[in-house]
Amino acid sequence: MLNFSIFRKSESNRLQRNGCTLKLNGDTVYLKRGKARVGRIETAHGIIETPCFMPVGTKGTVKGLKKEDIEATGAQIILANTYHMMLQPSAERVQEFGGLHKFMHWDKPILTDSGGFQIMSLSKLCKLTDDAAIFRSHIDGTQYVLTPARSIEIQYMLGSDITMVLDQCIHNPATYQVAEAAMNRSTKWAELSKQSYKPRKGYGIFGIVQGGLYEDLRRESAKQLVNIGFDGYAVGGLAVGESQEEMFSVLDYAVECLPEDKPRYLMGVGTPADIIGAVERGIDMFDCVMPSRCGRNGRAFTSMGQLNIRNARYASDRGNLDLECNCYTCMHYTNGYLHHLFKAKEMLGGILLTIHNLHYYNALMSSIREHI
Ligand SMILES: [Zn+2]
Repeated sequence: MLNFSIFRKSESNRLQRNGCTLKLNGDTVYLKRGKARVGRIETAHGIIETPCFMPVGTKGTVKGLKKEDIEATGAQIILANTYHMMLQPSAERVQEFGGLHKFMHWDKPILTDSGGFQIMSLSKLCKLTDDAAIFRSHIDGTQYVLTPARSIEIQYMLGSDITMVLDQCIHNPATYQVAEAAMNRSTKWAELSKQSYKPRKGYGIFGIVQGGLYEDLRRESAKQLVNIGFDGYAVGGLAVGESQEEMFSVLDYAVECLPEDKPRYLMGVGTPADIIGAVERGIDMFDCVMPSRCGRNGRAFTSMGQLNIRNARYASDRGNLDLECNCYTCMHYTNGYLHHLFKAKEMLGGILLTIHNLHYYNALMSSIREHI
């Protein structure tokens, strides 16, 4: 039971033509308002202004960042991975410590994914039935049986504000038959997930639209989920190697089948340009490892485009990552120093670039909200 209110949305063609401009990769980008909307989700751990970006805290940590650092980037909510937490240290251990918020010292909202994506991409010897996913841990080979009900129970023990249903993800490209079977199983699992979820005020459960790149399957999946009824709807199974054009067309018809008054979440996406295009198509929430993972590898997102701080040209550069950024990193550190940290393999380099990149993403979202 999550309260979601929409404050502004574009309704007419006049508004659509009258879009606003954002700066991206050194260019001025036109934000076509299209189906974009500004909203607010009220959760047990606070309010989330949408469209929003959720930094990824896979194992109960946004790598390298303390709570204060994460907050200072403007993050309103973070994402944690059910698959990783159930393997290590286990949901039971986190519950003993009073749930994930207390365990990791984060008092704002947390969304947990269901494990479906990692089972497909990380686990070994995975076998799926209509009742469960049976797989071996990629860490030590232990066998796990994850039913939809168990995934919901784990997310309950973690104490997540937003729980995701267990879904079956598929590799791209997938044949129609494979995509259809996975979509039907995902609907079955969504129904079982919903049945075992206990509604509480300020907490919600989201369904996940599947169906690969097939329009009729996506529409069917969305309709079936809406029939079951969720607090929000995610579009899953994207960001797996399809083109941006393919992703946008899935959003065009999937969003059409989803209710106007519930939040919509595009899982695992993406680049700043992907995010802007998805907001125009009516998406409210995003998560992606890109800003943090790139940061650890020395790549920075800036208003002039991406740069690699390891590049020799930064060795003597007294400037900062981004003239338009006022994050902690840009306020205090020169590119020459950041370059040195990466060359010397000092961990502070990855931390400072992660801070900047997450700040860049959250500032982009805040500017998108202002421009809608
Ligand atoms: Zn910065």
